[in-house]
Amino acid sequence: MTLTGGLLVSLTLPAVATATASPAPAKTSQADADAGKRPYGVDPANLPKMPTMTGGGGAVSSVDQTASQVGIDVLRRGGNAADAAVATAAALGVTEPFANGIAGGGFFVYYDAKRKKVTTIDGRETAPAAFTDKTFTKADGTAMDFMTAVNSGLSFGVPGTPATWDLALKRFGTRSFSDSLRPAQEIAQNGFMVDQAFQDGVAQNVERFTMFPATAKLFMPGGSLPEVGTVFRNPDIAKAYAVLRREGPASIYGGGTLAKAMVAEARNPGTAPGVTVAKSPVTVDDLRAYQAKLKAPITSTYQGLNVYGMPVPSSGGIAVAEILNLLEAYQAKTGASTASVSPAQWYHRFAEASATAFADRNRYVGDVPGVPVKELVSKAFAAERACGFSPTKAQARPIAFGQPDGSYTGCAGGARVAAKPNDGASTTSLSAVDKWGNMVAYTLTIEQYGGSGITVPGYGFLLNNEMTDFNFVPLQAGVPDPNLPAAGKRPRSSMSPTLILKNGKPYLTVGSPGGATIITTVSQIITGYVDRGMPLVEAIAAPRLSSRNTGVTVEPELVNSDIGTALKDLGQPLTTVGEIGRGVGVAVHGKTLTAAAETVRAGGGSAMVVTPRDTASR
Ligand code: GLU
Repeated sequence: MTLTGGLLVSLTLPAVATATASPAPAKTSQADADAGKRPYGVDPANLPKMPTMTGGGGAVSSVDQTASQVGIDVLRRGGNAADAAVATAAALGVTEPFANGIAGGGFFVYYDAKRKKVTTIDGRETAPAAFTDKTFTKADGTAMDFMTAVNSGLSFGVPGTPATWDLALKRFGTRSFSDSLRPAQEIAQNGFMVDQAFQDGVAQNVERFTMFPATAKLFMPGGSLPEVGTVFRNPDIAKAYAVLRREGPASIYGGGTLAKAMVAEARNPGTAPGVTVAKSPVTVDDLRAYQAKLKAPITSTYQGLNVYGMPVPSSGGIAVAEILNLLEAYQAKTGASTASVSPAQWYHRFAEASATAFADRNRYVGDVPGVPVKELVSKAFAAERACGFSPTKAQARPIAFGQPDGSYTGCAGGARVAAKPNDGASTTSLSAVDKWGNMVAYTLTIEQYGGSGITVPGYGFLLNNEMTDFNFVPLQAGVPDPNLPAAGKRPRSSMSPTLILKNGKPYLTVGSPGGATIITTVSQIITGYVDRGMPLVEAIAAPRLSSRNTGVTVEPELVNSDIGTALKDLGQPLTTVGEIGRGVGVAVHGKTLTAAAETVRAGGGSAMVVTPRDTASR
């Protein structure tokens, strides 16, 4: 088996300047001859994984080359960016099943080039009708243990991903729901090559997966980890995709086969002997009531660019906008541009802006009425919030939240509330741009890496644990918490798929996984690209810092450098962590597109264009 369509493109690519992956030897002639005829599946020639590619005709960037290739093939055959994004996402449900899937949710941001309009789809998972603000508390009113809640049916929320695909295709796309899911089904049936990231995904979940026999059987056949370089097949999820293609979204939202299977498993998860887990109160009616929602984006400006992000229930669009506004406000306050300051000062500003934005996000943003969105993303609010900024000293953490009340004259602040520590680090993000200039940034998840750990028996996909994104109890007594569970409510997210226009024309797409660090990763990539003049792949590769109003997490490369020393001297409370996020994006320069992904993190991502050119473009 081999991939169809764009395979030749990938294998005949000239060495791209910044590529760190070395392409496998080309085996193109047969692939070319068979292009368009063969089913999708494992590719014996090993598709090269390139972290950046420049060219025309459309671009896709994701963490996985099989999935990116699916999107590129859709574009080659005349599909648009929405079609490519849905097909790529469906493929990721097979090749990156620990981070996303049909029992998950996500946020889809779309730029319609013809109408010159950005629209978003809120496909966030939703709490069953039986949820209350006590769902995740123990009898004594204290919070349930986090991982106990994660590894259970109780953390399952009504999935939004298939509804997102359906709505995206109907509103923006040109291909059918069934066609869009075909490559994913074939990849599952025919198999794909296990890479290190896939094996690691199982390795880090051995204990959790062992609790649920259907999951252990699927991902640890014979009790061992899937071996790197072997072919992994998942006929069960192929069956799930076949059912979904046949029954359509009604399979989930109309009481069909998959609705019944998911609800049965969440209500009564199959566990190993001696293991008991909490059960979900979800019903088929909860699934029937679900709707993916079209929403206007969060709009803001940054250095003269127009930035479009995801609105509530994601805090992503609001927080990214506030961080960028704060960077502008620090420029105004100090008279030194973000472009001109030293690298250490750039990271310092970024850390201060991020911590401040998180103080406000934690206090005000959730799936509740009355979130002061306009104020939170206003330049005037940022100017007031910049009052605590000093170029020579980090502010004490946690920074107090501000007062987004429309009156900005002083330095008004509220309580200092520490952030919730339980943010997972999984999820996947993808970008697609087509030759007409339509753009998609799409981030989707099942929450933890490995979701709830529960596989729907016979259907080969994991149930989400998105409900643990709610705060289990208020963050601080006496301070209203907008992110407590409630019936039909959507937990606050940090997912930040972002589109940027320049003078009304496509300019950039960005997204990343990584729990609450998504907000900082996306903002850092934007300022790296826009202010610091980095090529997109370098802005993605740059060592990351994530300041979320507790400590400041940094990647080892940063801490062990002069920049790290300077940041500590400024009082930044640095803690070292492994890797932060997995960025993807596409930079648009007229008809020339530069897709970019990670060079090293998690084994590197996969950036592809339809017609590669050996031209340097950032
Ligand atoms: N559930 C997280 C959120 O919506 C994303 C999961 C992750 O990236 O870890 O913010």
